[in-house]
Amino acid sequence: EAVDIVKFLDDCIDELRYDLEDQGVAVDWDYAAREAVMVSVDLEKLKRTVVNIIDNALKYMDNEQKKLAVSLQVESEWITIAFKDNGIGIPEEALPHIFERFYRAEPSRNVSTGGSGLGLAIARQIIEGHGGTIWAESKPGAGTSVWIKLKRMTSEGAHKRDDSNPDY
Ligand code: ATP
Ligand code: MG
Repeated sequence: EAVDIVKFLDDCIDELRYDLEDQGVAVDWDYAAREAVMVSVDLEKLKRTVVNIIDNALKYMDNEQKKLAVSLQVESEWITIAFKDNGIGIPEEALPHIFERFYRAEPSRNVSTGGSGLGLAIARQIIEGHGGTIWAESKPGAGTSVWIKLKRMTSEGAHKRDDSNPDY
């Protein structure tokens, strides 16, 4: 279905606002241009992906000044959403494995909230199922960033127009 990704992110963050506030997380979600940016996705599945990513940010922050920054980058054919936390981070050797099923990196195995190691595997399955990509970068002790890249919807008339082509 056609989803406006700007409104979608507004809604996701609104829905999670109480959880985030409860845990003392300062959220930075700012997207200056407010016009709709359409993406063809399964809304519930994309929401599941965002919840899984933000759930991790919440679970793996143990610092005083918890921060989560959500940002959206819009290009002509793609959109990229970034989720950046300043939590415990992921060891370099663990990073290539975090999207595997049941994989949990060393320090977070001890996090009392627990987990089964499925959240990011599900996220990857959903994003790749939509023809997108998902990846992460992290620095132990400094924080983790997760990106989702999805193809923008090109509606009729929004296709690249070639005026030299009389058939257009
Ligand atoms: P589940 O999501 O099934 O409850 P989980 O959170 O352990 O369990 P994933 O969400 O798939 O599983 O994440 C895999 C592992 O990647 C985590 O166990 C953790 O080690 C690491 N990880 C993921 N996101 C973060 C993050 N934001 N900060 C630190 N570590 C993270
Ligand atoms: Mg998780």
